[in-house]
Amino acid sequence: MGLSQRLVNWARIKSPWITLFNSGACNACDIEVIAALTPRFDVERFGILAQGSPRHADILIVTGPVTKKQAPRLRRIWEQMPEPKYVIAMGACGASGGVFRGLYHVVDGVENVIPVDVFVAGCPPRPDEIINAVVACLGLVKEDLAHGGKEWRQKKPTVIPRVETPPKEVTA
Ligand code: SF4
Repeated sequence: MGLSQRLVNWARIKSPWITLFNSGACNACDIEVIAALTPRFDVERFGILAQGSPRHADILIVTGPVTKKQAPRLRRIWEQMPEPKYVIAMGACGASGGVFRGLYHVVDGVENVIPVDVFVAGCPPRPDEIINAVVACLGLVKEDLAHGGKEWRQKKPTVIPRVETPPKEVTA
């Protein structure tokens, strides 16, 4: 592997860029993702940056069940992302449709539209659980780079279980 590719791989692991897409969520999951980006949780200290454009993002975070209207948009956004790309499905809705499961206007979980790499449990998941999911995603990136791509694993998503005890309050 050449020096330039090693540099790209290093940057990919050290500074993943994420983009958020609401595919029909109640907004609570989105608020938690935004909270993870605020100075209180400060994900930027890990190099995690929010990106407006999917064309520049490494990780797509999808909130909510996928409505029939949003399904083609979600697919298009995913297709616009450069490889290697990763998907995190947020909460009960992202996994299975949650409280909206089976309704006339949804196709239920995100995996019915695009492949998912990491599921985050909760309704909604807390910011620390979202950070945990991004870290799990980085673990997958490292493994994939070591294996020369994503093909070695059969799209088996990682499930992040709920953390029962909330972390201690951070005092300034
Ligand atoms: S998982 Fe819960 S908080 Fe998240 S979109 Fe669904 S209902 Fe809302």
